Amino acid sequence: MRNKKDFQIKIVENVEITDASSDGKSIAKQEGLVFFVEGAIPGDIVDVQVFRKKKSFVEGKAVKIHKESEIRSQPFCEHFGVCGGCKWQNMQYASQLFYKQKQVLDALTRLVKIELPEFSPILPSALTTHYRNKLEYTFSNKRWLTTGEIGDVEPLEPNALGFHIPKRFDKILDINTCHLQPEPSNAIRLAIKKYALDNSLSFFDLREQSGFLRNLIIRTSSTGEVMVIVVFYFEDTDARIALLQFIEKQFSQITSLLYVINSKGNDSISDLDIQLFSGKEYMMEDMEGLKFKVSPKSFYQTNSQQAYELYKITRNFADLQGNEIVYDLYTGTGTIANFIAQKAKKVIGVEYIAAAIEDAKDNSIFNNITNTVFYTGDMKDVLSAKFVEENGRPDVIITDPPRAGMHEDVVKKMLEIGAPKIVYVSCNPATQARDLALLNEKYKVVKVQPVDMFPHTHHVENVVLLCLREI
Ligand code: SAH
Repeated sequence: MRNKKDFQIKIVENVEITDASSDGKSIAKQEGLVFFVEGAIPGDIVDVQVFRKKKSFVEGKAVKIHKESEIRSQPFCEHFGVCGGCKWQNMQYASQLFYKQKQVLDALTRLVKIELPEFSPILPSALTTHYRNKLEYTFSNKRWLTTGEIGDVEPLEPNALGFHIPKRFDKILDINTCHLQPEPSNAIRLAIKKYALDNSLSFFDLREQSGFLRNLIIRTSSTGEVMVIVVFYFEDTDARIALLQFIEKQFSQITSLLYVINSKGNDSISDLDIQLFSGKEYMMEDMEGLKFKVSPKSFYQTNSQQAYELYKITRNFADLQGNEIVYDLYTGTGTIANFIAQKAKKVIGVEYIAAAIEDAKDNSIFNNITNTVFYTGDMKDVLSAKFVEENGRPDVIITDPPRAGMHEDVVKKMLEIGAPKIVYVSCNPATQARDLALLNEKYKVVKVQPVDMFPHTHHVENVVLLCLREI
């Protein structure tokens, strides 16, 4: 990249990829510029087609591979490269783990300057395929055409049932086999698509906002239950009943068959009434003998098996003796709160989705847990001096915020409360690092344990134990 001319053709040759970035791209450093490259992995030497250039960095995609990295592996999915999921399939699993560990290390050392202990090696996921318990598909009348199909003279099927093409809200990749969820997930999706095509049911038009069939959600549980939710754009009673009866008849494994009419401008069904067509209103998850109720709208960690490992680490870090008051912040459906309740005197869960809190309470009742209480509200408003007075000063705070991390006011409150221990579970090491830097004023990081919940993606979970400094 010596002169402007190179940029006119926008191809930079022989770029040596040296790292993986926290957003799933790969990184190269050449001639004072950082390259963020799609479609390459560390160790590759590639030609990069540039689509964005800034003062200090360049974004592009690999268009030709001159040398393949030694850590490459053969992608197992026919949709690899087009589908937005599982982008790291072309990297050996051991190397994926290496780069996830590095992502955590980089975030905690480069972004902030705090004293750190030695990190534990990342915990691999026992399952590297079929590890998800939930998938959401979209119906579309604008199927994404693969490169091979463009220019085809045969009339092509325009309808698709699958996943969004990255950055294209209106284009859907038709999925043949997805390796993320156990069967009967693929079988159900394929049968529904075939029925819809055979019966000329209209697929959703994302631009025009029209069409009968909109989304399909399939959830599977560790107890072998299967939940299917069909989302329609409008009501057509006969067509809806006929489709749901077909699904019910074809798949006796389905334990909850539900539907919802979503005529809104967005896909979210959290504010809509979901109707039961047949079976039970909810599924059950089982963890260490505890039963968790999973309603159609409720959140449950998507890799159940690895969630169990994550919670065990959290419980070990908390090191409960039975007489502690524990706060479980961002409790969701109260899974962590209920999971640790037997080992604590009292657990107080806080979460801002009211329906999740209802599930959390139900989960305590189901499991005869009587030492939990749950509150609904925004964390920065709920966590006050009055709240602490009423619920007791916590011996341990467990916090599991969303990707954005904690609001600064929440971190400040935690510093004021001064619980002897904090266990911080995070799905985004960058925001976790930012929060740890603030907590550093009073807390020392004592343990760090990264966990892989999502093989073949760049996502990484990280659990940190913080102890109050002795002053
Ligand atoms: N600990 C739970 C869920 C963690 S996901 C589990 O393991 O299952 C993070 C949760 O934080 C979500 O349930 C989300 O609804 C909640 N949340 C996000 N922002 C919040 C806020 N400002 N106040 C309270 N809860 C919030």
